[in-house]
Amino acid sequence: MATQTIDSLGDIAGKRVLIRVDFNVPLKDGQVSDDSRINAALPTLNALIERGARLVLMSHLGRPKGQPNPEFTLAPVAAALAEKLCRPVAFAEDCIGPKAESAVAALKDGDVLLLENVRYHAGEEKNDPAFAAELAKLGDLYVNDAFGAAHRAHASTEGVAKLLSPAVSGYLIAKELTFLGDKTSNPDRPFVVILGGAKVSDKITVIDALLEKADTILIGGAMAYTFRLAQGGKVGDSLAEPDKAETALSALKKAKEKGVEFLLPEDNLVCNKLDFKAGTLGDTKVVEGDIEDGWEGVDIGPKTIERYRSVIGSARTVLWNGPMGIFEIADSSKGTFAVAEAVAESDCMSIIGGGDSVKAINKSGYSDKVSFMSTGGGASLEFLEGKELPGVVALDQV
Ligand code: ADP
Ligand code: MG
Repeated sequence: MATQTIDSLGDIAGKRVLIRVDFNVPLKDGQVSDDSRINAALPTLNALIERGARLVLMSHLGRPKGQPNPEFTLAPVAAALAEKLCRPVAFAEDCIGPKAESAVAALKDGDVLLLENVRYHAGEEKNDPAFAAELAKLGDLYVNDAFGAAHRAHASTEGVAKLLSPAVSGYLIAKELTFLGDKTSNPDRPFVVILGGAKVSDKITVIDALLEKADTILIGGAMAYTFRLAQGGKVGDSLAEPDKAETALSALKKAKEKGVEFLLPEDNLVCNKLDFKAGTLGDTKVVEGDIEDGWEGVDIGPKTIERYRSVIGSARTVLWNGPMGIFEIADSSKGTFAVAEAVAESDCMSIIGGGDSVKAINKSGYSDKVSFMSTGGGASLEFLEGKELPGVVALDQV
């Protein structure tokens, strides 16, 4: 699938461009504490400013549940954005109605306005046509660059796209689709997929879709223990889903049929007293094979690390979703950071998807050594599952 992008828009000087961005950023003490989502929107915003458009930005932040709530105001984001764009950013205290309309009317060419949180209105998440029509009043045309929200059919992502024309994507969405889509559909081979994280149930559709494309799949994280159980092994107190054993077995069968190499950890770091809050594990040891009761797998072991490292080293394309262990705790972060290092050092095209995986890469210090980090947690997973994203489908297609 290829959407039209802002490059396909003709002369837009003086036009009001209604832009959906993903400014759902973490706030701490009323300040933006991680600005990566703001940075990700800048190429599109700067291009539109340069072309003399009048920019009207909308986003959600958190879950205010359809009501105004100062805890979720986008006002601090307007300030942070102004600094990055090196120009003033006006802020409207509502995203529809007289306050929004008069703020839009005051815009001059190249000016930027940020509207208050669209989720202050229940119509946003309900994709209410009347609310979408109120939003649509504020623009002559529509740009969606909120990849992180594209998997939701909401008024500001899907509803308004149907009411304004042209309706195109910004550079961020275009880039996400290229890396998560084209580059994993026609990958340079060997194509190695690394999957980890907490649950098989969260990722099984992703595994299924990627079994069609990958040469090798490396499994880590708690997910590995469900596979091990399914194969008749013992996993002690590890986080595993016995009721997903069938699902795991059918994935293993499919891998065999497709000739996909499917690797599970041969050794694991186990502990006997995990306290996530305190960040402690109690006693730890490395075990091969079965895990006894009273012990819990928290990371891949050293043999597995070496094996995965060598597979990653000879890959041409790597897609990574899901940490190899409880990377939030230092003593069980080795596997995840070793894999991050291997991906960074490998001569491959590397794509990282998933919220916690991106956090892990950032924490590892290797983020500037990977080819692409997706900004959409849930959206990237759904896209990798092969689902159509409503916010993307609603845009003009090439
Ligand atoms: P992503 O957000 O990248 O898609 P997930 O949300 O699926 O990743 O999984 C991330 C979580 O999985 C992390 O919080 C991590 O602590 C947890 N996890 C990884 N390995 C284990 C394990 N062995 N036991 C329990 N939790 C684990
Ligand atoms: Mg996650």
